[in-house]
Amino acid sequence: MAVGTHCPYCALQCAMTLTLQADSTVKVEGREFPTNGGGLCHKGWTSAELLSSPHRLTSPIYTDRQLGSSAPIGWDAAMEMVADRISGIQAKYGPDSVAIFGGGGLTNEKAYSLGKFARIVLGTSKIDYNGRFCMSSAAAASNRSLGMDRGMPFPMTDLAQTEVVLLVGGNVAETMPPFVRHLKAAQANGGKLVVIDPRHTATARLADIHLQPVPGTDMAFALGLLHLVIAEGQVDNDYIATRTTGFEEVRSKAAAFWPERVERITGIPVSDLRRVAMLLGKAERSVIMTARGPEQQSKGVDTVTAFINLALALGLPGRPSSGYACLTGQGNGQGGREHGQKADQLPGYRSISDPAAREHVAAVWGVSAQSLPGPGVSAYKLLDSLGTPDGPKAMLVFGSNPVISAPRAQHVAERMAALELLVVADPFLSETAAMADFVFPVTQFAEEDGTMTNLEGRVIRRRKLMDPPIGVRSDLDLLAGLADRLGKPGKMQTEPDEIFAELGRASAGGTADYSAMSFDTLEGRDGAFWPWRTGEPTDTPRVFVDKFPTKDGRARFIDVIDRPIAEPLDEEFPVYLTTGRILSQYQSGTQTRLVQELVDIEPTPFVEIHPGLAKRHDLTEGDSVKIISRRGEVIGATRITTSIRLDTIFMSFHWSGAGRVNTVTNPALDPISGMPEFKICAVRLERVVTVTVGSEL
Ligand code: SF4
Repeated sequence: MAVGTHCPYCALQCAMTLTLQADSTVKVEGREFPTNGGGLCHKGWTSAELLSSPHRLTSPIYTDRQLGSSAPIGWDAAMEMVADRISGIQAKYGPDSVAIFGGGGLTNEKAYSLGKFARIVLGTSKIDYNGRFCMSSAAAASNRSLGMDRGMPFPMTDLAQTEVVLLVGGNVAETMPPFVRHLKAAQANGGKLVVIDPRHTATARLADIHLQPVPGTDMAFALGLLHLVIAEGQVDNDYIATRTTGFEEVRSKAAAFWPERVERITGIPVSDLRRVAMLLGKAERSVIMTARGPEQQSKGVDTVTAFINLALALGLPGRPSSGYACLTGQGNGQGGREHGQKADQLPGYRSISDPAAREHVAAVWGVSAQSLPGPGVSAYKLLDSLGTPDGPKAMLVFGSNPVISAPRAQHVAERMAALELLVVADPFLSETAAMADFVFPVTQFAEEDGTMTNLEGRVIRRRKLMDPPIGVRSDLDLLAGLADRLGKPGKMQTEPDEIFAELGRASAGGTADYSAMSFDTLEGRDGAFWPWRTGEPTDTPRVFVDKFPTKDGRARFIDVIDRPIAEPLDEEFPVYLTTGRILSQYQSGTQTRLVQELVDIEPTPFVEIHPGLAKRHDLTEGDSVKIISRRGEVIGATRITTSIRLDTIFMSFHWSGAGRVNTVTNPALDPISGMPEFKICAVRLERVVTVTVGSEL
């Protein structure tokens, strides 16, 4: 038995064939597909190991906090108890006392069902998800400027014809290695790759030009490039006149970012700035891509906007093999932000504050628009409010591990401990699940049908190979079971194809319109790009070709003003800490820390430190070093490298215990997107001698 499906991890969603073998193990093979060309990375190759992992949960677990004991419990009994507790809490404190926290790795059907469950079963506004920590700044900026947030505006195979790729703050060679083939295809055709990153990463090593700005100065860099292409007369005046609004204001502000000033802010020499501006200014087809570097800042939306302004000035969006793109990270980061698990959103990328959207979706759900709650709060604000007098007293977590992935993580863990009820659905006992009153064991990728939407906006099929172990059910079964017990029978479906059909109806007329798609229409093709509206003959691989989905059909230049990072360096905390992912691990590590082959590649947390900084702290390779911020401390092994700036250190965020870097990260939020400033905080280093560094599984 074999099925064609996709990797459970990142947003590239590499295609793979899974074969159930005679000894019940599952063989993984890369499958030819436009995104991965048959390739997989280490994480993909080893993904099937988790299906038979000894760490797998196969029964719900109930923890009695008063007795301090945990024990397996049956699904029905657990759902009865959870429903009773939810009813009691809501009767006492009101509907908003129960919150939902979702995940960017959940299928479209699960993300849609979570949003629906929150609004019509619980009646709560308090729902958000971990995608808020991923690409929310780029999403907000794209919506504001371009009228639509689709990570890539064209199939990634178009990159082969791109002359200049400007990649800002992304390390695809480690986070999604098969993506590199598209950059190399561009280079093979004479294209240039320019990488902007404070670290000389594996991706930077592939670049024709690599520039290492001071962390948090990306916006000044973008404004400096805009200044230069304007000064050199390289903007596309026809495009600006016919396809955009607002250029004059932006032009006048860019005048203040002359190259010498930008060099002082960013540390990028004037000659390098001019070199990149000249490349972009002369090219016909360029792509400006942002990833978490510029996005995970307290000014992330405006920073991304500055890059979109540059793309618009050059006339790129809508031109072949050109435009602005955001590299989404999580497996269903794109679809997960379209169908209702965001605090402010209804399916189809509709606003929950829009009366027409409320009417439409309420009709699909068979409820009144008046009964739908309004917008809630963004992820960190939600987590920060847990257990407070005005905050939720209960939370249900699906496909997320905020105890590791949220900023100021120790504080978040303390807030979760203050809840009266914490329920977690996960295949494994993540750090968040370990704190829960009830844990429900749920299916993994090879055990379920569904759809995912990759970083191009391509909707693809996840296909079931095998039944889950006895005792394991789908998140969809949990939602339906709770809905029944909470007195909303029949509202929540459990069959993915039926949910996808309903999602299509709910999305009809929205920005992310899936209404012409079904499991059947997705068969026999390499997925379908949204929007694909009912009655239209085909999907939309390329957007913005003729017009933008704004009221006047034009893109908007948005005037943005550079501002400092939230936590500048000072005498007490004189070093920048930046964080990110490594090749062998994925997100909070709930899955990948359980795969020995991946753990063997990089077994423990490490801290990248420049030799000069290491010398200043008397650190040698492998020494344990304590990183201290205003929020706490984390420990890693010293890794001395010239690939990082002298004023900056790097840690990955996959680890728990003493190696959990989010203990020290800054929860300063972007005012529009709610994105925390993961990418920069001020720290100091202390050498430690006696602590053994290790991850806790
Ligand atoms: Fe999976 Fe991403 Fe690796 Fe592809 S690049 S195999 S989707 S983790």
